[in-house]
Amino acid sequence: MKIILIGIQGSGKSTQGTLLSKELGIPYLSTGHIFRKLAKERSSLGRQIKVVMNAGLLISDTKTLKIVNEYLSRPEYKKGYILDGFPRTLVQVKAFKNGVDKVIYLKISDKEALWRISGRDGEAREDETLMAVRKRIDSFHKFTVPVLDYYKKKGIFFEVDGEQQIEKISSEILKDIKK
Ligand code: AMP
Repeated sequence: MKIILIGIQGSGKSTQGTLLSKELGIPYLSTGHIFRKLAKERSSLGRQIKVVMNAGLLISDTKTLKIVNEYLSRPEYKKGYILDGFPRTLVQVKAFKNGVDKVIYLKISDKEALWRISGRDGEAREDETLMAVRKRIDSFHKFTVPVLDYYKKKGIFFEVDGEQQIEKISSEILKDIKK
């Protein structure tokens, strides 16, 4: 099964993706994790990615598609995956040929996202400055909301209230997937 997880930064995608992966026995892959790893590399690609990420902007569609396609062509993802953070733009949706069975949107308000991220005391990441987080929320509305609308029309969309308890969110998602 090929599952896509979408949500604003702080919505709990990584927590839910990891839980779902254990429950369903499907590998979990996060483009945010991939990019953060690349940003630590001392290569020109690494440096470019770091600058874009720390500014709270999206990596270009061309680079993102190339990297995601490279990962998904690996044997471990042949049968399925839980993909967190991709696709995030309509260009990515349309160029993505791997197939999607279900899109899960973890909905939280902008206010909650800001509160959660600014509340990660002491463990705030380099790309989590308030300005970067605000930019990311703007990008979400501008580029990713059209992605949600696209999948809604395809009839493979499930929205869950991401402000509930972790276990409640997880059980609602599983119920929808298994129905
Ligand atoms: P995330 O952890 O999903 O919030 O992603 C962290 C950062 O990685 C984002 O703010 C972007 O800079 C970059 N990123 C992750 N996924 C994508 C994507 N699908 N397209 C473009 N940039 C992305």
